[in-house]
Amino acid sequence: MDFTRLRGVGVSPGIALGRAVLAGRVLFPSRKEYIPPHRVEDELRRLNEAIAATRADLVEIKDTVRRKVGEEHAFIFDAHLLILDDLALSGGFDKLIREENVRAESALADVYEHYRKIFDGLDDEYFKQRQADVADVLAKVHRNLAPTADEAADDVREKILVAHDLLPSEAALRLSQGNILAVALDMGGQTSHTAILARSLNIPTVVGLHAITETVKAGDLLIVDGTDGEVIINPPPTLQKEFLGKKAKYEAYRRELKKAASWKAETLDGVRFTPLANIELPEEIAHALSYGAEGIGLFRSEFIYLQRPTLPSEQDHYEIYARLARGVHPRPVYIRTIDIGGEKTLPQLSIQKEPNPALGLRAIRFSLQNRELFRTQLRAILRASVLKNVRILIPMITEVEEIGEVKILLREAQAELAAENIPFDPSIPLGIMIEVPAAAALANVLIKDVDYFSIGTNDLIQYYLAVDRSNEFVSYLYKPLHPAVLRLLKTVIEAALKAGKDVAVCGEMAADPLSAMVLLGLGLRKFSMNPIYIPRVKNALRAVDLRTVRKAVARVLDMRSAQEVEEYLIETLMAKHPGAFLMGH
Ligand code: PEP
Ligand code: MG
Repeated sequence: MDFTRLRGVGVSPGIALGRAVLAGRVLFPSRKEYIPPHRVEDELRRLNEAIAATRADLVEIKDTVRRKVGEEHAFIFDAHLLILDDLALSGGFDKLIREENVRAESALADVYEHYRKIFDGLDDEYFKQRQADVADVLAKVHRNLAPTADEAADDVREKILVAHDLLPSEAALRLSQGNILAVALDMGGQTSHTAILARSLNIPTVVGLHAITETVKAGDLLIVDGTDGEVIINPPPTLQKEFLGKKAKYEAYRRELKKAASWKAETLDGVRFTPLANIELPEEIAHALSYGAEGIGLFRSEFIYLQRPTLPSEQDHYEIYARLARGVHPRPVYIRTIDIGGEKTLPQLSIQKEPNPALGLRAIRFSLQNRELFRTQLRAILRASVLKNVRILIPMITEVEEIGEVKILLREAQAELAAENIPFDPSIPLGIMIEVPAAAALANVLIKDVDYFSIGTNDLIQYYLAVDRSNEFVSYLYKPLHPAVLRLLKTVIEAALKAGKDVAVCGEMAADPLSAMVLLGLGLRKFSMNPIYIPRVKNALRAVDLRTVRKAVARVLDMRSAQEVEEYLIETLMAKHPGAFLMGH
């Protein structure tokens, strides 16, 4: 049998073998289909029954998602119920069916076209998202009119979900049902909602496959390799065997990795270090702890906003933070206030497009200009701090005045809560992200005003080396081991240590074993990263002794280039501690 291999981007590692289930694309008929006038009432009834069935489905889905994945993913169905009611009342279906005598399917297509034209004319992310929601609801009604091939293949047990793209609502629903082995999408990226959810639920996923929905038929046998970003359609038995072997190896490796959770986080010469996790969803806590995280070093709170159509209330925030605080207690959780604006637009507000989003109204700059939003967030963080393990982290601090303003707002929020008799931790620690070079240069001054630093190397390197972190044309210049970067990091780490305060690195650099050794040599003891990478960093740091690393690091600070640094470090450390390099990924 012919087979096809497709390359994409692996966004959730692991391998699965199963049968394709196609999530229905919005396949509205392109030609108008008419009915004889005497069938008008029947057709209206058919449509109304589909709308009623869709309403019942949405209520049920909302309930299932709330129970299985959590309240914060169920909100989207409230919005969909509102859209459905709105469409049923004023969508104009009656008129289309009665006056134009079209089939219900064609009426849905017409209404969709009508909205698409309106939304297309608006150059705004918020409305683009609303268009997707309207399409989502109409597609559900459409499916209730006529079952598709999707349902026909629904009795398959080993399901691999193939789709053009998954709307957040669909991802939350389908992935939480527990019967999807893997996902393969035409569209998508590393930070898409589906990718994040798939990673936290351990479902191998490949995205960016461009045309898999056009190549695969429902029921086809598929191999999804989320580690290497590949999908094979109808693989011959030899290839199936090869991948089953790879799958077994990967799963053994995964089990092995989890054993690392019980290893002591200590270098050969007995120096303790702390691995922490970067997470985006409270659902990831168990996953993070199972990989040996000793706390949450970075909770990227902007995801709370990015996942819902309406602004989260103080209670919405509070429930998420309280869940985090309880889930990791007695370990700490560093809640970073929203890093939004610029590129990460907030769907609920229309944010101005900026010519240089990375240098624009981002993070704390945005929060200080949207004080009501910031106040809501600060109050919620404070309310969740009663267990005394919650810490605040402020992103993108550039100057000391910003810290002053944050403190005033924090004190105001504390005073309000005290007046309302709501308990909170009065000595909640406050720290800042060091990701703007000016803040790094002024570290010894800024540290006096805060309890700790967390160095965001992703942004710090982008700004210091003037290399856009997401631009593939200049990625060859993005070098964490550039001697200039290392000198800057040294300044920041030493400033914190001298002041007797905590310092962590929460950028990707902390997840790379060689860079982590350098950071250790520079004095760092807190490493925060995607939990999957904790075992390999732990392995590397446990395999070295601090004295050797320190000596090597002192040498590289005077070198001329990242290449020289890297070659020297590998040569020196490999000779002394080969075990540090043995656990790849
Ligand atoms: C960073 O900049 O290093 C960081 C951790 O924050 P983010 O990746 O969310 O910008
Ligand atoms: Mg950052």
